[in-house]
This record gives sequence, structure tokens and C-alpha cells, in this order.
Amino acid sequence: MSTKLYDISNWCRQGSELKSYPYIGEIDIDLNIGKVVKVGESYFSIGVLSHVEKNAGAREIEIDFEPEDKDYENNLICPYCGYEDKDSWELSDDDEKHRCGRCGAIVSYERVVTVEYNASPVEPPGIVTANWI
Ligand SMILES: [Zn+2]
Repeated sequence: MSTKLYDISNWCRQGSELKSYPYIGEIDIDLNIGKVVKVGESYFSIGVLSHVEKNAGAREIEIDFEPEDKDYENNLICPYCGYEDKDSWELSDDDEKHRCGRCGAIVSYERVVTVEYNASPVEPPGIVTANWI
């Protein structure tokens, strides 16, 4: 069992062939997508996997194991790895559990909708005319 890791931090810019990305090293386990792999002190999320060739595309990430809530952000941000889901608008309104697309952690979310007001002129104020005495 072994897997070769390639750094896909800038995935797609060098095509879809894993071997054209920087080689990180080889590890002694087989991998599955959706799990973070810890090698030494480093954590990697696995984005692309080739079971046949035993290659995986990986990104080094930081994991916060005692995360705080990420409130009032423009997008859903994973409290564990800091990944910002740019497609947060596609999340459903009522399903409040979400699996992070980068680290696989489960996050609960709430969509906060702010209320704003639009005003249009309809009728000006009534005016009476007077003079200084
Ligand atoms: Zn995450």
C-alpha cells in the first residue's frame, strides 16, 4: 500500500494530469477522498485520486481542532480548515448540515438573510407659506 502525493494547490493551471504537478512524496497508505491525511506534522486534503496509478492530488491545509464559529461571512467558511465555499448560494435553505468540500468535516450552517428597505417618492410634504413678523 502506498500513494504518491502531488501538490495540486493550483489545480487546473497545469492541466488534468497529476504528474505535471509538483511531487510531494510517497506515503505508506492507500487514500480515500473525503479524509485528511496527516504526514508528520503536515495535513493534506486529497482532491484527486487515481487508484490505478496510486497517485493522489493533495493540498497542504491547516486544521483547527478547536474551531470557533465563523459568523456573518459572505460565504460558508469551514471552521476546521478555513475553506471558503464560493458556491454557498447553492446550499439549500433548510438542510443545515454540510460536509466541507476540502477537509470533509461536517459543519452546520444557517443562512442569514438581512432585511433592507427601498423607498420611492410618492407625494411631497404639504407646505404652507408664512412671513417673519
Ligand atoms: Zn474544511
